[in-house]
Amino acid sequence: MADFIITPGLRFVSRAGWVASQSLPRLGGSVPRTDRTHVIIHHTVSPDNDESPNIWDSDASIFSRMRRLQTVRPDLGLDVPYNFVAFITNDGVVICEGRGEDRTGAHTKGHNTRGIAVSFAGDFENKAVGSTILADRMPLLSNFLQWLRTDASHPAYGNFEPMRNLGTLRPSARQVFFHRDFAQTACPGGLLEDHLTRVAFV
Ligand SMILES: [Zn+2]
Repeated sequence: MADFIITPGLRFVSRAGWVASQSLPRLGGSVPRTDRTHVIIHHTVSPDNDESPNIWDSDASIFSRMRRLQTVRPDLGLDVPYNFVAFITNDGVVICEGRGEDRTGAHTKGHNTRGIAVSFAGDFENKAVGSTILADRMPLLSNFLQWLRTDASHPAYGNFEPMRNLGTLRPSARQVFFHRDFAQTACPGGLLEDHLTRVAFV
């Protein structure tokens, strides 16, 4: 099980860490890390139903949401469709492993092999969240993407090849794509978009 801190405020939790259902194996085909060229941001559109619907207050709520994401879209297969899911907490950001670094996703038609999808847990189109808290979390997303691109390893996780080409494909005005750049959708949500323009990892 891997559950470790990449940088202060930025925590990574593997599938074993969030206790993925063993009866639902990881899906997707193998992808070499050097084939990854771009990052696509989504939101899960499944808020936490408390007074802070896009802020995750406990490991229990995060881990149970990850298990729910294994079954939420049976039409896409019984696994988390994204490579990673990002949970905003009061302390920072928790990144949970979905398909992970080395498998195709089921998130963006035409971009499930070369793209790395990070989905923010919550509904950033319809549920309010403080602008300051979002602004404060964007550097941590930058740190995570930078870690994938240059390091991707940790003593508690293992030694891996980084995704050296991540970020070589990007839109003109930002370093990450939005799902809506490729499809008719509001994803990743208007509340996130202005903040995502400041994500910088290459
Ligand atoms: Zn999306």
